[in-house]
Amino acid sequence: MSKGALVILSGPSGVGKDTVIEAWKQIRPNVVRVVAYTTRQPRKGEIDGIDYRFVPEDEFRTMADSGKFLEWKEVHGNFYATPLNDMQALLDDEKIAILKIDVQGAITAMEKRSDAISIFLLPPSWEELERRIRGRKTDSEEVIKIRLENAEREMAFADKYQHQVVNDDLNKCVEEIDRIVVSGR
Ligand code: ADP
Repeated sequence: MSKGALVILSGPSGVGKDTVIEAWKQIRPNVVRVVAYTTRQPRKGEIDGIDYRFVPEDEFRTMADSGKFLEWKEVHGNFYATPLNDMQALLDDEKIAILKIDVQGAITAMEKRSDAISIFLLPPSWEELERRIRGRKTDSEEVIKIRLENAEREMAFADKYQHQVVNDDLNKCVEEIDRIVVSGR
């Protein structure tokens, strides 16, 4: 087993973050995503403790006020956060702990954890990004438009990350990330 590491992984919605994490776990069993806290309602099929830790707003605020989060944010009236205790427990356990996190949260995380390895996942092209978002068949036309606009804003942050990796061929992408994190190249 490889030793632990903290990885910050960002990239526009639809670029393949979840897919890459799942594929990486297959070849590197100590890869674990740090489960974020949220106050939003679970969507159909989402499981507490796996997709998110779903908590009431008062509990979230108490945790935020007592410094339990590495970073937190509000999006459309819902709160999201990275839990410090859970993250540290994974690192103590020699896991490769992944923060799948938006660009703003990532910048804060980089400032607070200079040991973190930051990776921005890029699509091979705009056309392919749009195809992947549409291919998921989870979003309305309106949401797709918003995702593409957000993607443009987020991509402008790519050079703030230590590494930029293109998710074209999935296996090659995962191998490159594994090489960066495990052998530090
Ligand atoms: P994210 O977590 O970044 O929002 P997902 O992992 O949900 O993105 O992937 C978005 C869509 O793109 C999914 O349908 C997934 O199967 C597809 N996808 C991911 N990586 C690749 C790849 N390397 N080649 C082709 N399709 C991909």
